[in-house]
Amino acid sequence: MARIVILGGGFAGVVAAESLAQKLDKEHEITLIARQREFTFYPDLVRLAFGQCRTEDVFFDLEGALLAQRIRFIQAEIIAPDPLNDTVMIRENGHERHVPYDFLVMALGRRLAIEEVKGFQQHAHHLLSVGAALRFGEAVKNFKAGHAIIGACPETRLAVPVFETAFALDRALSERGERKAVNISLVLPEKFSANLGGEELASALQKALALHEINVVTDFPIDLISEKEIWARDNRRMPYDLLMLLPPFAGPDEAAYRGLTDETGFIQVGWDMKVRGARNVYAAGDCVSLLGPKMGHLAVLQGEIVAANLAAEIAGRQPEARYEHEIELIINEGGNDSLYLHKELWTGAPPVMHQGRFWSWAKQIHSHYWTRQHQLNPISKARS
Ligand SMILES: Cc1cc2nc3c(=O)[nH]c(=O)nc-3n(C[C@H](O)[C@H](O)[C@H](O)COP(=O)(O)OP(=O)(O)OC[C@H]3O[C@@H](n4cnc5c(N)ncnc54)[C@H](O)[C@@H]3O)c2cc1C
Repeated sequence: MARIVILGGGFAGVVAAESLAQKLDKEHEITLIARQREFTFYPDLVRLAFGQCRTEDVFFDLEGALLAQRIRFIQAEIIAPDPLNDTVMIRENGHERHVPYDFLVMALGRRLAIEEVKGFQQHAHHLLSVGAALRFGEAVKNFKAGHAIIGACPETRLAVPVFETAFALDRALSERGERKAVNISLVLPEKFSANLGGEELASALQKALALHEINVVTDFPIDLISEKEIWARDNRRMPYDLLMLLPPFAGPDEAAYRGLTDETGFIQVGWDMKVRGARNVYAAGDCVSLLGPKMGHLAVLQGEIVAANLAAEIAGRQPEARYEHEIELIINEGGNDSLYLHKELWTGAPPVMHQGRFWSWAKQIHSHYWTRQHQLNPISKARS
């Protein structure tokens, strides 16, 4: 009998757990540990901020979905794994204890390194949690005129919600008849194509932004935010009246100091998603040290690879499933300018790109399909 412990109940952890439950005999014990009983569907947070869906639509009953698939669930704060002793230290109901494992999967997501940009905490909105998205939504409702800056800080590693927010703001202001009183600037730390998989998507996106009169400022690495201005590292400044920025990303603190991470704290893995330097530890999702954007669909692919290789190891075989890094994204502009891109990052195969209203619908349908496929019920339904 093998005891498998999975840390994190996001895209990577859920997929790894479910896929293992399908592959392994019932004698093996799968446990998932996460802070919340709910799964958060992050790709819908822009829609949540703009009132296009409700809080109940982005939270799903994680515990119920796992239990239905014979996966144990522990709601606890993960303090740190101890790979030398094959245990994880957790805090559950105020008490600390060790959870032993034979195999560990780290799927802890990213850490928001807000402290790296001075003034971020006091002055900027972001939308990387449900609470933050709702607060930004309130600020949008009260914003009538002036300069709106939507952007990303250095090391953000996620572009989609920045563009979607700029388009959604343009649409909301137009519907309220207030668009003419507002300038919207989209501020990026690097050149335009960074974190978008290259030039293919960039030029279509630039045209769409110009059509919506959204001004684009590139190579503006924000390192200070004051009450009224954002500052770049070279002291250039821009005034704002409404500010939404994605903060820098870093690896999870829980994995630090174990010799498993790179210099920014992301966990180093090989082609099989096994953690470098660890005998029986795998990692998947935003917490791993791979170049390019951090995205939910990559977390899903990586979770599948982890499950396939772990199941092989438990059956006494060598890991053989190989992870291929790629980008697949939809930027939902809300209409005809919505964009789809699929690009393999390691094989050099030609990218596939499409544009049109269909991709706006496809994104919404995909989120419903994903949650249904993983037996995740909205919390409203789970609690009624
Ligand atoms: C606004 C927004 C829009 C996005 N849009 C898209 C999109 O369109 N397409 C796309 O592919 N991706 C998108 N993403 C990115 C996507 O959501 C992430 O890549 C994905 O959530 C990563 O999954 P994960 O499982 O690695 O981490 P997460 O989903 O962050 O899950 C981490 C899990 O670990 C748990 N955890 C962490 N630390 C602890 C601890 N100490 N103790 C207990 N539990 C802990 C958390 O509670 C959580 O359950 C978007 C993200 C945001 C924020």
